[in-house]
Formats: sequence, structure tokens, C-alpha cells
Amino acid sequence: MSVYKAPRGTHDIFGELALALEKLDLISRIIFKKHNFKEVKTPIFEDVNLFTRSIGESTDIVEKEMYVFEDRKGRKLALRPEGTASLVRAYIEHNFNQTEPVGKFFYSGEMFRYERPQAGRYRQFSQMGAEYLGNPNPNADAEIILVASEILESLSIKDIKIHLNSLGCSGCRSEFRKKLVKYFSSISDLCQDCQRRLDKNPLRLLDCKIDAGKFQNIPTMQECLCPDCNNHFEQVQTLLNSVGCEYEINHKLVRGLDYYTRTVFEIRSSSVGSQDALCAGGRYDNLVEELGGVQVPSVGFALGCERVLMAAEKNSFFDNLNADDLVFVAIADEELFNHAFTFANKLLSNKDNLCSVLGVKDNIIVEGPFNNKSLKSQLKLADRLGAKKTIIFGKNEFDNGKIIVKDMSTQEQKEISYRS
Ligand code: AMP
Repeated sequence: MSVYKAPRGTHDIFGELALALEKLDLISRIIFKKHNFKEVKTPIFEDVNLFTRSIGESTDIVEKEMYVFEDRKGRKLALRPEGTASLVRAYIEHNFNQTEPVGKFFYSGEMFRYERPQAGRYRQFSQMGAEYLGNPNPNADAEIILVASEILESLSIKDIKIHLNSLGCSGCRSEFRKKLVKYFSSISDLCQDCQRRLDKNPLRLLDCKIDAGKFQNIPTMQECLCPDCNNHFEQVQTLLNSVGCEYEINHKLVRGLDYYTRTVFEIRSSSVGSQDALCAGGRYDNLVEELGGVQVPSVGFALGCERVLMAAEKNSFFDNLNADDLVFVAIADEELFNHAFTFANKLLSNKDNLCSVLGVKDNIIVEGPFNNKSLKSQLKLADRLGAKKTIIFGKNEFDNGKIIVKDMSTQEQKEISYRS
């Protein structure tokens, strides 16, 4: 047994899960590209202040979940806990507002949060996200929500619900804060977290799991929205309605990051247990400016790949992950190893139209030959690998310019002409 184990909250990805992640990545990329989002890859670690400034000092992520370390020169760095801050940093650093005709970007990669691990919650996890920078209009919010739900729908995840809310602008939010502080101050037995957050970040009390039962008739953000924010929120809904996208207004949805303005949303699944948010996002009209750029109203989302796959596992997404045909090349005589080796390489590049001669797909997997195994054990291995066809190089057949093609499901064998 290995002395070392993967650190708590992390996991090795292999087998079916690795194939499923690859498929999710491919499907998402097709959808991002169709909507004209361009990929940006940012570093896995950044200056810690980037996250403190953007996500907010009094959020869970900054207060207790970041992996912070010093490098050898004493620079204070953090493993990225999310993707938006890094993308905005890159946007400013490379003047994307001048060089990119539309500010549509996507990213995918590992994020790190020191959270209490449980099913669907890890310390290292993968996100895929899209950010639409520079479009202040409600159609950007609607497109972001539609891209996210298109990805989930294309994985046939059926039991999803879009939760939608507006947090307004700083003007409406300060009125809402005042109302909330007044409301929550009238409740005597708030939990410790809520008491601590009441002054700094009263919105976060809205999603407290401990105190939820004590809150009745809470003031809603909608009551405080200014005419512009209200109009924006209504237009987002009109656009979603116009394409038949179903959603639910959730007054308690506030999200755990400080940079959101106006629209916020979460897509939840009822089949994955308590960690039910597959995807979350919203508008962040001030973040680019707060991080040193000009004012660039923006909106984006991130989906959690592990959670999405947990929901996808409940349907047919995990069937046929190994859809490519595997061809196994075997030898009945060690002398023929080099010929078989050359054949395997010809097959990989589909020379002489070998794939169609063998009756397999063009994009195949080729395994073998092995010169240290008996024919029997090679055929056993081919079987275990789920080979569709096995090519057998036999001395008599090869001397007559032929090789054997064995269909692994019917066990039928035939000879075809082949010369090296
Ligand atoms: P957030 O960046 O917090 O808005 O989260 C966006 C999405 O990332 C969530 O809806 C989850 O699907 C996923 N996610 C967030 N935190 C974790 C975690 N610790 N482990 C696994 N997935 C996570």
C-alpha cells in the first residue's frame, strides 16, 4: 500500500471520470465557440491581493478558504479560488478592450478552496466559465444564462432549475442593506456567523443555512431596485421568456462573492444532494474598474465540472464514453513482430485506407503488438480492452500475403491481403 495519499479534498481522475471530463470539455468548447467566446488560459496562482480586492475581504473565500503562500522572494501569492478575477486581470493587462472586437472569453481549469470536503465539494475542483465583458445590456446577461443552460442541456441533465435574482447597483444595494440590518437586528438568536456578518455583509445572512427557518417576510431586493436596475432585470426576463427559457425568481439568492451587481443566477440540480449548484454567475459592472481598468460592464458564469458530472451520471452521459473502435494487433510468431509493428503504425495514419478495409472507424485506437506474450494471452488482452477487431499475423498466412482479421464480437475470422 502506498505511504502517500492524495491530500484531503483532492482526488485522482482516471478511467471513466477522465473520459467524462474530456467529453464535458469538448462539448463545452463547441458551445463556447459557437457563441464566439475565445479561450484565455491564466496562471494557477496570482498575487493574493487580486482575489482579496475582487472577491471581497469579508467573503468566505477570502476569510478562510484561500491557499496563500510566499514564494522564495517573499511575494504573497494565492492558488486561484475562482476564474473571473484572473480573467479580468488579463483583460486589463493585455488591453483586450482595445484589441478584441467583442469581449467574450472562456476558461477552464482547476480552482482551489480550503473548504470542508464532502460529496460535490472539494479543495481542488475544475470549473469551466464564460465572461462577457463590455456589454452593459440585458442581452449579455441572457446570453450568458443561455450558454450555461445549453451546456447542461446538451449533457441531458434534465432536473435543473435556473434561480434568478437582481442585486441592483450600489445605490439600490445600500438601501437594501439598511433594510436588512434593521430586519435582522430585530431577530434575537442569530448564529455566530450571522452576528459577525451583520455589519460587514448583511446580504450573506440571506443564505445562512442555520438561521433560514427564523427568517420570515424578509425585505426583498426587488423592493429596493432603482428604475434602471428594475428595467434591466425585467428585460433580462423578457429575453429569457422570448426563447422559452424557464427560470424562477429567488429573492434569497445573493452569491458569495462581493463583485456582483444587478443580475445573479444559479443553476441547481435536484439529483446531486446538498451541493446542488452546478453553475453560478452574474453581472459585475464595476470589477474591471476596481482592479485598475476603465469601466467595463460585464457578466459571466462558472460551472463546476465535478458537480455537473455527478448530475450527468444519473443519465446516459457515461454510456459510450469509449466510442472509438479499438483494433488490437497480435502476432502468432515472434519473427513477424516488425511487420506487425509497421502495420500498426500504418493503421494509425490510415495508410492505404486500412480502416475501411478492416471495417472500422477512421479515428481508431490501436494497441499492440506485444512480442513477449503468447497468442492466447494477446487475444485475452484484446478481449479485456474491448477490441472491436484483432489482426493476427500468422506465419503461413503472412508468407501467402495475407493477415487474419478477427471480429471480436462474433469471433468470426477472415483473411485479407496485406504486404509490408
Ligand atoms: P462559485 O465560483 O462559487 O460561483 O461556484 C461556481 C460553481 O463551481 C458552483 O456552482 C459549483 O458547481 C462549483 N464549485 C464551487 N466550489 C466548489 C468546490 N469546493 N468543489 C466542487 N465544486 C465547486
